[in-house]
Amino acid sequence: MKQEAQCSCGQLKAIVDCEITKTSICHCFECQKRTGSAFGIQIRVEQDKVLIEGGSTTFKRTGDSGGVATFHFCPKCGSTVYWELDGMPGSIVIAAGSFANPKLPSPTFMVYGNRMHHWLTMPESAVEYFMT
Ligand SMILES: [Zn+2]
Ligand SMILES: [Zn+2]
Repeated sequence: MKQEAQCSCGQLKAIVDCEITKTSICHCFECQKRTGSAFGIQIRVEQDKVLIEGGSTTFKRTGDSGGVATFHFCPKCGSTVYWELDGMPGSIVIAAGSFANPKLPSPTFMVYGNRMHHWLTMPESAVEYFMT
């Protein structure tokens, strides 16, 4: 079943042609800044299962571990729809909220729990993976 992720204005799309089985949460400050929300939530799929439509501007960011993420956001409305990680070639990470689908699977893991907003409660399905 195809599922479509898109930016706020609809110009930039990532169309996924496989089942979405996992979501994950990141509480890091960079994800908080990127989303403007308390945490980032995303899915990862194989690149050959994703069709990108529309144009994007990119922003590269080096993470704590030294890995580089290349974020693709809509030049018109600014929403980040997807990104690539240099440590995971062949994969695309897509912002879960871009699907506007509240039925995506519950998160199976989370990182940067030490930066989680104090009022949040995570679902039991979200196993914490500690970043060093
Ligand atoms: Zn847009
Ligand atoms: Zn993050």
